[in-house]
Amino acid sequence: MSYSTGHVEFIPIPLASCLYLYPISPSPGGHTFSPTHFGGGGGGAMAEARAGSSIKGTIGLLMGIVEENDDKRVISLGMGDPSVYPCFRSPALAEQAVVEALRCGKLNGYAPTVGLVNARKAVADYLARDLPYDLTADDVYITSGCTQAIDVALTMLTRSGANILLPRPGFPIYELTAGFRHLEVRHYDLVPERNWEADLEAVESLADQNTVGVVVINPGNPCGNVYSYQYLKNVAEIAKKLRVPVVADEVYGHLAFGSHPFVPMGTFGVTAPVLTLGSLSKRWIVPGWRLGWFVTMDPCGAFKQPKVVERIMKYCDTMGGPPTFLQAAVPNIIEQTSEAFHAKTLDQLELGADILYEVVNDILGLHCPYKPQGAMAAMVKLDLSVLEDISDDMDFSFKLAKEENVIVVPGVALGLKGWLRFVFSI
Ligand SMILES: *Cc1c(COP(=O)(O)O)cnc(C)c1O
Repeated sequence: MSYSTGHVEFIPIPLASCLYLYPISPSPGGHTFSPTHFGGGGGGAMAEARAGSSIKGTIGLLMGIVEENDDKRVISLGMGDPSVYPCFRSPALAEQAVVEALRCGKLNGYAPTVGLVNARKAVADYLARDLPYDLTADDVYITSGCTQAIDVALTMLTRSGANILLPRPGFPIYELTAGFRHLEVRHYDLVPERNWEADLEAVESLADQNTVGVVVINPGNPCGNVYSYQYLKNVAEIAKKLRVPVVADEVYGHLAFGSHPFVPMGTFGVTAPVLTLGSLSKRWIVPGWRLGWFVTMDPCGAFKQPKVVERIMKYCDTMGGPPTFLQAAVPNIIEQTSEAFHAKTLDQLELGADILYEVVNDILGLHCPYKPQGAMAAMVKLDLSVLEDISDDMDFSFKLAKEENVIVVPGVALGLKGWLRFVFSI
């Protein structure tokens, strides 16, 4: 992979502008700027700070009040990092691939900022297995985990006055990143009674001519749902109508164990361009390796225009990606990890989901509407009417941490008051 950046004058063309192909008529009744739907209010320089906190931040507060003792050890159903549990050991061959790459002694230098071509190619081939069209290495940008892929997507899409449609409840890194990029957030609600599908007419009505994308997280965090082929197809149709790309967070790609198989959003890339975000973190249980990807699944080529590609490449120049030896190991990590490993992970997750669903629904005051079908967490509704001296989900989480040393994330931290998020990947 070779390209030069030094002598090219910077031309600030937002990625969104490549969608000029689609004429957009302004929808009536616009929306006022409100960067902080998760509490607080107002715009300005501090918008990002008020745009809520990360799950890590909330868990940190809860961990601060637990008092570990022999009677009550700390049980964390808060953070979705299964690597700490022996039943979720990362694949040995993947570790070996990294060791070998490191020890060859030839991978201590910088990688191209967009990623090593072999890693890009391996991710392209891996993702294209499930698509009706091919991907090339050039469609893939290697990032520091899916977290950095979120940053790339939101930063590349934003422009003055832009807004993005995010699911609620959602993954707070989106709100935080949008805040730092002065990208207005408009939430669309995931409906518990519909197994967390959104009302797509409501999604459409939130958008206007400044909407630059719609984010879909599938399999879902925090709801543990897996969307059907038909629902995702409908999402693509809405995106097409709105002339915006779909940002598909598939960090839990393939971690589906219910009746719906995992369908990549890129399946509908011909209908609307898809920016797929992913990483090794969840499926390979190596979140600390920080190996992720930002991928353009765009057979019609809106994101392949030279100016757009140049802009993504330049943005990549501003970021340090994952270590070179880790990138070099990616082809072996993907190819050598056995189906048996993936199947075992799914069995473990399904077992956790079954236990969570049954146990929670036996507890008065808690209700999990659907058995989780994928990912690593589920949302549980609090029935405050049967709970004494509990004012809301935040109060419940803090009292549970203090009295029982059990950590669960209050729904308000994810945009859904009155609910709790339970992680079942333990
Ligand atoms: C964990 C997670 C991420 C971040 O993934 P990393 O590869 O650890 O950076 C992004 N999106 C969702 C929905 C997640 O659950």
